[in-house]
Amino acid sequence: MDRPTNHTIAEALAKVTARIHQAAQAAGRKCETVRLIAVSKTQPAEAVTQAYASGQRDFGENYVQEALEKQAALVGLADIQWHFIGPIQSNKTRPIAENFTWIHSIDREKVAQRLNDQRPLNLPPLQVCLQVNIDDESTKSGVSLEDLPALAKAVSQMPRLQLRGLMAIPAASNSQEQQLMAFAKLRHALGELQAQGYKVDTLSMGMSGDLEAAIAEGSTMVRVGTDIFGPRIKP
Ligand SMILES: *Cc1c(COP(=O)(O)O)cnc(C)c1O
Repeated sequence: MDRPTNHTIAEALAKVTARIHQAAQAAGRKCETVRLIAVSKTQPAEAVTQAYASGQRDFGENYVQEALEKQAALVGLADIQWHFIGPIQSNKTRPIAENFTWIHSIDREKVAQRLNDQRPLNLPPLQVCLQVNIDDESTKSGVSLEDLPALAKAVSQMPRLQLRGLMAIPAASNSQEQQLMAFAKLRHALGELQAQGYKVDTLSMGMSGDLEAAIAEGSTMVRVGTDIFGPRIKP
C-alpha cells in the first residue's frame, strides 16, 4: 500500500479542519470549542511527525505497546499531548498513567483506581473522560448510562484524576438522524452530571464518518484517524 506523502497528510488535515469549522459554524459554535485529536494508531511515527509539522499537537493512541514505542521515537516533539482512547486492561494501567495527558476510555472503577494510584506525583492529574456504551451493545466497552452516576461519583473523588467529561463510540450508521440521536444521548448525560454539580466540560465524540453530527450535538473533541492518515495498517 502507498504511504501518504507529507503533502497528503497536510492536505487531509486541512480538509478535516475545514469540515470542523463548517460544522461548528452551522451549529452556531466557535470553531475553537472543538479540539481535533489525530488518531495515529497503527500509523508509523513518521506520520505523526508529518501531522506535527502541519501544526497538529493532540494525538490519540489505542494500543499501549505501540504507543510507547512511538512516544520514544518522538520525544523531541515535547509539546505533543497524548490521548489514550482504547480499551484499558487493568494490568496495563501503569504505562498509561505515566505516559499520557488524557484518557478517554475509563469504563470501570477498578481501572480508574489503578490509574489514580499510579499517576506520578510530579505530573499533573490525568484528564479523564468516562466511556459510555451509548447504544447499550453488550459487545462494546463502556459504562452503561445506568451505572454512569456511580462511576462518575467514584472517579470525582480520586485526587490524581480530573474528571473532564464523557466519551462514546456509537454504532456506525450512515443515517445522520441516527448519528444525531446517539450523540444527543451523550450530551444529555453530560448535562445531567453538570446539573448534579460536576465541573465537566468535555464531550469526546465524532470520528471520520460522523464528526459533523457530533459537532452539531456539542462535541468538544473529535477523534479522527482515517480521514487524516488514510486507511489503517492491519497488524
Ligand atoms: C480508531 C478510533 C478512532 C478513529 O476512527 P476513524 O474512523 O479512523 O476516524 C476514533 N476513536 C476511537 C476510540 C478509535 O478507536
